[in-house]
Amino acid sequence: MIDLRSDTVTKPTEEMRRASYEAEVGDDVYREDPSVRKLEEKAAEILGKEAALFVTSGTQGNQIAVLTHCRPGNEILLESDSHIFYYESGAVAALAGVQTRTIKGDKGQMNPADVFAAIRPEDQHFPETGLICIENTHNRAGGAVVQVANMREIYHHANAHSIPVHVDGARLFNAAVSANCSVQDFTKYSDTVQICLSKGLGAPIGSILAGSEDFIRRARKWRKRLGGGLRQVGIIAAPGLVALTKMTERLAEDHENAQYLAKSIREIEGLSILNSVDTNIVVVEVADLGCTADQFVEALKQKGVLAVTFGPTLVRLTTHYDVTKANITTAIQAINELTKEVIGVN
Ligand SMILES: *Cc1c(COP(=O)(O)O)cnc(C)c1O
Repeated sequence: MIDLRSDTVTKPTEEMRRASYEAEVGDDVYREDPSVRKLEEKAAEILGKEAALFVTSGTQGNQIAVLTHCRPGNEILLESDSHIFYYESGAVAALAGVQTRTIKGDKGQMNPADVFAAIRPEDQHFPETGLICIENTHNRAGGAVVQVANMREIYHHANAHSIPVHVDGARLFNAAVSANCSVQDFTKYSDTVQICLSKGLGAPIGSILAGSEDFIRRARKWRKRLGGGLRQVGIIAAPGLVALTKMTERLAEDHENAQYLAKSIREIEGLSILNSVDTNIVVVEVADLGCTADQFVEALKQKGVLAVTFGPTLVRLTTHYDVTKANITTAIQAINELTKEVIGVN
């Protein structure tokens, strides 16, 4: 099987498994796990923040950010297809008691003027705007990169209104590699950032939430409240450190493979590419084949390639380090065969 469902399917490398085996550990709730401390210090340094916190997942990192920044009854501003709004089971309402105000973006990027217009003035009728979230890269926009200039403009305005900005940077390293800049070029226009170690970077488990010392101190308490205070967790922090320090540059390879995949699919009759393919995600429109995304994904599976549906007639393919260029060639052949069969039937 060639698994293009997500970059979360990556398995830990040998080096990660060895790091896990050899990791020095202690009780991290007592702050006595040296491997976790090392990971958190390194992550803070790379992300250009004072401090960082190791959390179990991207969702937990985002939720802790909202819980720490906001109070119940606040309103948060975020893109209408953002992960926090679309894919986190309504957690911000269930846990933080905040309401969401979504802003339709273009390729995942919110127009700064729309964001500014949505900031609530002081009035007893209104909720207070407690947080602005920016997702980079933007998952549902097909891994689109939100430009540094866009983040800068939103951040400066938010700052002037004393509203914090959180970056859901599950794939922020993909954005940096694609834009040929450092992650700090993005994170300097944020108060806090969440990055996933377990997507393209290949770690088995975990995310990082980074921000100021004071923010992370309060975030640590929220992590404990959510049951995320772990013990000898160096076992999973050690492979996370390998992911963070050794796996970021190679994302360029995944982006090249996505380009190759997209270019080949564009040449196939009945299929078109919907996204700009800035990074490792390719979104395919299958409507012209006269089939649904479900049917397409099922038929593709029969040919040994796994993908996910991304809408009634949309299919998402994601490249990652467990698929080689040769695998992509095989996947393209399978897609080609499949479309010929489908067109033959209709
Ligand atoms: C995957 C993802 C998350 C959540 O990560 P999990 O570890 O699956 O909880 C958050 N935001 C974005 C943009 C993502 O793609």
